[in-house]
Formats: sequence, structure tokens, C-alpha cells
Amino acid sequence: MTMLFEPLRVASLGTGQEQFVNSYIFEGSEDLPRVYIQANLHGAETQGNAVIAILIEFFKANPPLGTVQLIPMVNPLGINQKVGTHTYGRYHPAEGENYNRAYQDISLQIDFDGLIEDFSGLSIGELDDRFKTLIQESLNKKRVELSQYGLSYNQQLCLLLQQQASKADIVLDLHCDTQSIEHVYAASFELDKAKDLEFPVIYEIPEKFGGALDEACFMPWVNLSKALNLPNPVESYTLELGCEELWDSSLAAEQGGRILSFLAKRGVVAGGDSLKSEPVESFVAKLEKLRKYRSPVGGNIEYYKKPGERVKVGDLLAKIHSFDQNGLKSHSIAARRSGLVMAHLSTSICLEGMKVIQVLEL
Ligand SMILES: [Zn+2]
Repeated sequence: MTMLFEPLRVASLGTGQEQFVNSYIFEGSEDLPRVYIQANLHGAETQGNAVIAILIEFFKANPPLGTVQLIPMVNPLGINQKVGTHTYGRYHPAEGENYNRAYQDISLQIDFDGLIEDFSGLSIGELDDRFKTLIQESLNKKRVELSQYGLSYNQQLCLLLQQQASKADIVLDLHCDTQSIEHVYAASFELDKAKDLEFPVIYEIPEKFGGALDEACFMPWVNLSKALNLPNPVESYTLELGCEELWDSSLAAEQGGRILSFLAKRGVVAGGDSLKSEPVESFVAKLEKLRKYRSPVGGNIEYYKKPGERVKVGDLLAKIHSFDQNGLKSHSIAARRSGLVMAHLSTSICLEGMKVIQVLEL
């Protein structure tokens, strides 16, 4: 099997040069689930590129049974957004919009009641093909509608990626957090399936649209499955691979192994459980249980707990240091409930009110 390489145009720079992303496709049987994996939508979140590099090499030697599309470094503008040594790649520099909030809710354009009649008597395969075609047509219509007065960079980028991702049955959007442990966002309908990803924490997110790729991909199918009273056939997750500003090849090999094992369970990859090392038990939590402690004052942060550590009520999480007429002045942030530290900031400087540490309350 050959790897199909296609550069996809995103937008042009102020100097006129055009920016592209690299799409790699390994074509397999159309009877098996189609997979789409992208990485690095937020500029500093690079570890997913390392995972895609592992997957490309694996598939070159061991072609997948189903079709797999991989796009690393999906946001050329965001990745190049440097401020000194820091990568400021989460928000568009001119518009201020989060890059992961410009996907489109095409469910609003579809008459689901009308589909009950249109799709009656179709086989699952026919229904799948018809609905995917309808999604692509809806995205094309949305592009035309939004283009009347010109598309923003974020709309241009997200429409391009959504059109690619919406061809798939399994969508993995690879992100990272600041200083963080691995976790997955999964909607209620796919919580049990998400355990096959073997990430330590799964956050349950509502089945509604908030502008992110995972929601943009599953919402049309959520509405269709409700209208037709059928199980939802797609899976769409945001995977948080740990810390940002990181390319760790050995960690990527382990994370790639878990993704391959997950795809083996879906029949897309041959080999099954031989593809990963130690099994990881997943803990499922409501997103509301994740509490983000904001700094009561501005200053320099000293952390007393690391991501992955357990905390008890009253444990010191962090101190915020600054100076006044008497010298050093420190404010403490203590745990209000017991739990697991999920993430803290990468920076040592915080303004008053910033979210400095995140604890999953257990
Ligand atoms: Zn992200």
C-alpha cells in the first residue's frame, strides 16, 4: 500500500506566501471504519506530532486494514506565533478567537425529521454513505454562506479540517495541556468506548456543540441517531497527551501503541493487544468535578503538588509570592477537597484571577 501525500491549502500570509498542511492517507477497505487523526491545532501542543510520526512509520511497514488519514501540525499560523521563546498559539493574534472554537454546527442546517422518511429502508452502509454526503454538502453550503463577506483565518482553517474529519467514523484530535497528565474528553454516548483508548482520566462532556472539532464531528450523528432511534456509529474524541511544548519520542511510542491498540479493537489495524505495553485503567469523571483554582493575587507561583499527585483537604497546592514594604509576601492556595492534581500552568508568573492549578475532585 502506498501512502498518499497531499498538501492542503490553508490561507496566505501577509507576505503573500500560501500556508499548507500535510495530509497523509493510507487507503484501506471502505467496509471498515475510516479514521482521521490531527495534531497541534493549538500552537504549543506539539506532542501529537510525535505520535503521528510514530503512526506514519508504523503504517508504512504495517498498512492499516481501513483508511487512515493523518494531519500533523494542522495550524501553520498558530504554530509560528512566537513571543520570545513562548509559543502564543492558542488564539488568533488579530481576532483573539480560540482556534478550537471556529468549527461549524451543521446540525442546524439539517432537517432531521425529514430524514426519517428519506432514510427509511436503507441498510446501515447506505445510510452511512448518504449521511456523510449530506454532511459534506452542508459544509459546502456553510462555506458559501460564510464566504459572502470573506472567511476569517479560523473559519478557513476549521472548515478545511472539519471537511476532512467529517469523512471519518473515528476522529482523534490530539491536544496537550500546560503541565498536565493525560486525559480524554468524551461525550456521554461514547464513554464506554472511550475506555478502549486507555487514558487514565476520561472527562464526560455534554452532547452539545461548543465550537470544538470533536463536537462538530459527533453532533450531526447524535441528532441523526436520536431521530432514527439508532446507536451512534461515530466516535470523536479530544485526546490531551500531557504537557505542551514537548516532543518526547519514547512517550509518543507508548501513546501511539495505545492508539493502535484502540484501532485494532475497531478492526482498522491488525495485531490487537500486541501493539501496546502495560494496560491502563481509565477513570471516568464528570467535567464539573474538575475544579480550577484561581490565584487570589498576582505574583510568582511556587507549586507544592505536581500533576498526577493525590491531595487531601487542606494540602498546600501552591504559594503566590510577591514583595511589599516588609519584604516577601506569600499567599497560599490549599485544597478545598481531596482529589487528583490534573494540571498547572507552565509559567511562573500569574496575574490575579488566573487559573493556576486544576484538581479533579474525587
Ligand atoms: Zn489544545
